[in-house]
Amino acid sequence: MDKSTGRPTKKKVVAVVGGGLVGALNACFFAKRGFNVEVFESREDIRQAKVVKGRSINLALSHRGRQALKHVGLEEKIVSQGIPMHARMIHSPSGKQSPIPYGKKGQVIFAPSEAETYPNTKLNFEHKLHDWTAETGLMTFEQIKADLIVGCDGAFSAIRKQFLRRSRFNYSQTYIPHGYMELTMPPINGQFAMKPNYLHIWPRNTFMMIALPNLDKTFTCTLFMPFEEFEKITTGDEVIEFFQKYFPDTIPLIGSDALRRDYFRLPAQAMVSVKCSPYHINDKCVLMGDAAHAVVPFYGQGMNAGFEDCIVFDEIMEQFNEDFSSVLPEYTRVRVPDDHAIADLAMYNYIEMRAHVNSKWFLFRKHVDNI
Ligand code: FAD
Repeated sequence: MDKSTGRPTKKKVVAVVGGGLVGALNACFFAKRGFNVEVFESREDIRQAKVVKGRSINLALSHRGRQALKHVGLEEKIVSQGIPMHARMIHSPSGKQSPIPYGKKGQVIFAPSEAETYPNTKLNFEHKLHDWTAETGLMTFEQIKADLIVGCDGAFSAIRKQFLRRSRFNYSQTYIPHGYMELTMPPINGQFAMKPNYLHIWPRNTFMMIALPNLDKTFTCTLFMPFEEFEKITTGDEVIEFFQKYFPDTIPLIGSDALRRDYFRLPAQAMVSVKCSPYHINDKCVLMGDAAHAVVPFYGQGMNAGFEDCIVFDEIMEQFNEDFSSVLPEYTRVRVPDDHAIADLAMYNYIEMRAHVNSKWFLFRKHVDNI
């Protein structure tokens, strides 16, 4: 009998902190190995919620991420729910559209439900981690203890805070001057307002907008722009003036009333790049996903790299017979250089695109399936 959970167990307790994309997939990997898995997620269970707060970013799922999903038998399930994107569609200021051939976008709300299909997995929603102790594995939600703590709690990880207090932990974070804002383009007569199998791009000097299709026939448009430009627009009329100048073809599709309203619904969001090393503390804790390596989204590889963390960790578990004291340092050794390379590539692409303005925004996610 395990004292901390009160459940009969042959295996150790693995606590996955953060039930986002990477945390939920990771829970499947650990459950498949027979560990007793507990997922702690600060937000409520969105499957039960009447109103879902926060954002739902559409994500491009590439080879890297698909391999990890395949390993736990989820690839086909997720991919079949996605909308394939065969090409980028470039929109000129005059409204002319030109395709440039390209992945597959996945609908990734799958994650918590899939983890729950394993009987040795328990999901705990509305459990926000406040603090934890590396020596004992004691976590303060309400004092829960685990053999291994897996920090999948995103770019502003509470698990990672504990690492910062330790000697020889390298850490850097960089905010880019651009922010992003999401706007919805509704269906027209029940159909997509634009061609659905494309990543639509409006490259415009120092900023750009992209639009990705959703299963409900809406498009999510994401406007990437320097914060100072976002802040210049303070009234509904200024929003329309701005769109008239740069994205005139989108006004009838998004709707001018919706534009006037939605632009001010939420402030533009910041984008941060986080690099750190090592990813582990002793045999007790390991970071994965954005908690280990938040990247700017200009390669579309953040989630995919997080999914790959899960499969790489699982392979090392196999290699070292699930001995955490060997697995964790090896994971750091193998994974840090690759994740840092992805963070660098994403930042490099951003800097390149920004420096060469119009010509290079076309490169947006050019290599999405190649890296
Ligand atoms: P998150 O998704 O941030 O999940 C972390 C979870 O932990 C959350 O559910 C949170 O509520 C929970 N949590 C936080 N703190 C605590 C706490 N103290 N206690 C308990 N729970 C906690 N990636 C791609 O691969 N392809 C793309 O096309 C792509 N496009 C993007 C576009 C934009 C605009 C942005 C911003 C990102 C994009 N990304 C893309 C990146 C991708 O969204 C992230 O890499 C991915 O969401 C990381 O998953 P995660 O599970 O590590 O972190």
